[in-house]
Amino acid sequence: MRIVLMGPPGAGKGTQSRRLAESTGMKHLSTGDMLRAEIAAGSELGLLAKGFMDKGDYVPDSNIIAMIQQYVSDPAGVLLDGFPRTLVQAESLDESFSAAGLPIDKVVHMSVDTDELVKRLSSRAVCKSCQTPYNLISDTPSKEGVCDKCGSDVIVRDDDKPEAVKNRMKIYEELTAPVLNYYKSRGNVIEIIANGTPDSVFEELTQAIGTGN
Ligand code: AMP
Repeated sequence: MRIVLMGPPGAGKGTQSRRLAESTGMKHLSTGDMLRAEIAAGSELGLLAKGFMDKGDYVPDSNIIAMIQQYVSDPAGVLLDGFPRTLVQAESLDESFSAAGLPIDKVVHMSVDTDELVKRLSSRAVCKSCQTPYNLISDTPSKEGVCDKCGSDVIVRDDDKPEAVKNRMKIYEELTAPVLNYYKSRGNVIEIIANGTPDSVFEELTQAIGTGN
């Protein structure tokens, strides 16, 4: 199965993709996680990406496409989280999939009220190494600042700070909303209202894509 998970910053794409990948065995491809790993490794791509990411801007299409190309048509199935984010990326993905004879099965759009998004992003933290997400109010690590899973530091992402968040929301509307319309015109978008708890959204998601009970 090939699934694209879409939604604004804070919609819960990362949290839900991780859970879905664990329960289905699909490969989770998060361009955000891949870029943060490049930054942590101090690579040339990481250095370039950090300049864009810290401000909440998108990393150039050519870098993103080159980074993800080799993984997207994995015959085991993929769960795309945070990609494609622009029409250029969506067209490139179509080319990769059609070259491999693999169609996109479902595009899931997670929509969340703006107030709820702002609330989530302003309390979000993440493990610097394994990217496990936390919420500083409702889902804190057992030991403050330390990841329960791998013991690394739990941090607030630079791009979750208020100025960057505002820019990310604006860019999402300008560049990523058209991608959603592109998929809608093909009729394979499933809409999910993702205002609820991670458990309730997961339930809805698995029902929607047919992997639930
Ligand atoms: P995410 O973890 O998906 O919220 O992504 C964090 C940041 O990484 C975004 O705000 C962008 O700066 C960058 N990024 C992730 N995926 C993409 C993409 N597909 N195209 C461009 N930039 C991306």
